[in-house]
Amino acid sequence: MATRPGGRTKLQILANILRLEARKGFADEVVAGGLNKFLELASDELTPAVGHLPDYAGMSPAQRREWAGGVMRNIAKSSPADGPVSQAVARPDTRSATSAGDRPPSAGPAPAQPRRPRTPPGPVKVALADDVSRLRSVTKTQLPKLERLGVATVEDLLYQFPLRHLDYANIRKVNELVPGEDQTTVVTVGEARLGGRDPRRKSTQAVLGDDTGNLRAVWFNSPWLAKSLRPQTRVALSGRVGVFGGSPRFENPDYDILSEGDDLVHAGRLVPVYPLTRGLYQRTARRMAKEALDAALGLVEDPLPPAMRERLGLMGVRDAISQMHFPDTAQQYANARSRLAFDELLAMQLAVLSRRMRWREVDGIPLAVDFARLSAFVESLPFELTSAQSRALDEILSDLCDSRPMSRLLQGDVGSGKTVVAAVALLAAVVDGYQGALMAPTEILAEQHYLSVTRMLSAGNEMPTLDENVAGLEVPTLGRPVVVALLLGSMRKRAKDDMHGRIADGEVDIVIGTQALIQDSVDMPRLAVAVVDEQHRFGVMQRAALRGKGGRPHMLAMSATPIPRSLSLTVYGDLDTSIIDELPPGRQPVRTVLVAPERRAAAYEGLRREVREGRQAFVVCPLVEESEVIQSRAAVEEYERLSSAVFPDLRLGLLHGRMPLREKEMVLEEFQRGEYDVLVTTPVVEVGIDVPNATVMLIDGADRFGLAQLHQFRGRVGRGAHRSHCLLLADAPGQDARERLKLMERIQDGFALAEEDLRLRGAGDYMGTRQSGLPDLRVARPGDQSLLALARLEAQRLLDEDPELEEEEHALLASRFRKLAANTQFDAS
Ligand code: ADP
Ligand code: MG
Repeated sequence: MATRPGGRTKLQILANILRLEARKGFADEVVAGGLNKFLELASDELTPAVGHLPDYAGMSPAQRREWAGGVMRNIAKSSPADGPVSQAVARPDTRSATSAGDRPPSAGPAPAQPRRPRTPPGPVKVALADDVSRLRSVTKTQLPKLERLGVATVEDLLYQFPLRHLDYANIRKVNELVPGEDQTTVVTVGEARLGGRDPRRKSTQAVLGDDTGNLRAVWFNSPWLAKSLRPQTRVALSGRVGVFGGSPRFENPDYDILSEGDDLVHAGRLVPVYPLTRGLYQRTARRMAKEALDAALGLVEDPLPPAMRERLGLMGVRDAISQMHFPDTAQQYANARSRLAFDELLAMQLAVLSRRMRWREVDGIPLAVDFARLSAFVESLPFELTSAQSRALDEILSDLCDSRPMSRLLQGDVGSGKTVVAAVALLAAVVDGYQGALMAPTEILAEQHYLSVTRMLSAGNEMPTLDENVAGLEVPTLGRPVVVALLLGSMRKRAKDDMHGRIADGEVDIVIGTQALIQDSVDMPRLAVAVVDEQHRFGVMQRAALRGKGGRPHMLAMSATPIPRSLSLTVYGDLDTSIIDELPPGRQPVRTVLVAPERRAAAYEGLRREVREGRQAFVVCPLVEESEVIQSRAAVEEYERLSSAVFPDLRLGLLHGRMPLREKEMVLEEFQRGEYDVLVTTPVVEVGIDVPNATVMLIDGADRFGLAQLHQFRGRVGRGAHRSHCLLLADAPGQDARERLKLMERIQDGFALAEEDLRLRGAGDYMGTRQSGLPDLRVARPGDQSLLALARLEAQRLLDEDPELEEEEHALLASRFRKLAANTQFDAS
């Protein structure tokens, strides 16, 4: 830098201004009339030192911050004496992370005070794809914990965002706490001990206080915490405050254990609260996040073309990541979140829109739909379609006439009657001389569909069977026979080969099955309508494989997993959607009760009462593990316990996934015929099973299931004329779980339930669950409707310009969206 007389002074003034600007969120409020005035006046001295001077007023706060960061780095480099002072903004990416914290966290907003100069060892050299263990703060013992959180690389750690922030700028004394609000307080531990009955799921209960009063805190399922909360430990608690026995109480609050001369990382004003796992503590998580930022933030490349970013006034990606972790202000955090949410939504919309483009290009099979025959068939059914069913059916049939292949999602709550709608769509193909296929996720469900479709077609007559698994039915209303076949993976090879032959030579009109349908050996030359039931249970490849059979069949995906309407647009933005939002008449709401653990015996008694009335009951065993083997073994044990100790006088049946198919079928049939009072089962009953006389669904370990799944179980009852009950048993549910289960009591409608669940858990969580089949969105929320609209617009614009995203500046976007497409249900391939 030129050491002109006076130059340093103006530079220093600029440094001071920028520091103040940083504290005010780069709002251009420090210089009266705007910083541009000063830049103009001082340009002769500033330009040689810091380069071209921008139009400060015309930049977004994020751009200003970026520019200021560069300027401060420049100044720091050329005049080390400025170091300690200017560092406050010299490294805007980690400012709050490195800000000094030699004041107690309760001291309120930071006064401008000199930072303690530190000379830490420089950050380790890493690449984004490096293993996290390269970082100093990640020790061997931390590795398995990070792995549990899904963090493997340095980049993962950068994107492992806090769940929340503790607002240390807004700390209340104990006597200022208001019940019902989210608040933060700093208190000292009086005592902490273990509580709770179940030895495996002990809670930690603590009494804490400050000079104004005491409060209680309880953490469910967190026994290890009791040890950490030694008397006299200072802790910051944050969360919803309740009242218990007259004094304030926090349930499962976020906590931050403070120590003498607390670590710098912890003393910002908005302190991150990271997702933890057993043995991983906030303090450690923060240190790791901070190190990842220091070491690797500079390596992150912005996937958005600069022109787009500027036009939309979005924060730079590095700033955004940094502000997500250690935000300067709540506003900065909001801006950062918008920026990253936009990225996610943009990638998703690129996937959705490019798939739509591709679909539009191909020619499908326009069917000559014989409306007269199909209506005659519908009239022959023992019930009348609900108006929602009719509407959905009309939409589907009109799609089938089109030469563009149908791509439609049929959403409808459990029991809303999707199967009959799908069956008519399949028949539309058959009547026009084509084939139809229906794929279900489990053998039990495929069999159920086979039974209900054949029954529907035989209009209640005894079913004429050609062979095992093939039915040939004379259907007068359609004016022709219809051959329906069932194809399962568990069938013997010879039977399967035989079936393949009959499908290939066109003898079979409608084939119903599991994934066995999409084996290469299955050839459906005249497939025109393909239906996928419970479509979220299938992967991209499987649906694509079905689509690849025959010509370009019309696709109908069905789902009872209530995807909240607000998400549905995000995920299925390109699919046409039909919704059956009405249940067939005569359905009664299922009375749902969360049973307190000590009332277990009463719940069994209630079940017995129903049986005495001639009804039947399901008992779903707690989910023990993903493994079907272990799950089945647990069900056997529960079956034995219930048979001998609880219901020795009742007839119990057992159903689990490891039973041979024939046996499963037999048990189900026997249950349907009323030969058992109680069916003890693993979660395999989740879908499809229809036993109108069953009026009790008792779900043990209800807290281990997601709401969507519980709602599916509940849908197994309430199908007949009698009033039905759903009993939810949970031994020691945490507060969150209890709140979720309470929703089941209140809400019958699957969609409303999903919306509430979503609100309660947050989108990331909701979408992250295996059940939902939704893409992994970490930052975007369903409420981001205007961001979504913007992302959609921008995605369209990009694809118009560069349909294959081949241009250099779209390379990062292209790779992101391919990754997304590969991992989710988008059939972008
Ligand atoms: P889901 O949408 O959960 O797949 P199903 O198609 O299995 O529901 O239908 C549930 C039950 O309701 C079946 O027994 C079916 O026969 C019956 N059903 C379907 N539509 C009607 C209707 N319009 N009126 C009366 N019962 C119906
Ligand atoms: Mg169904």
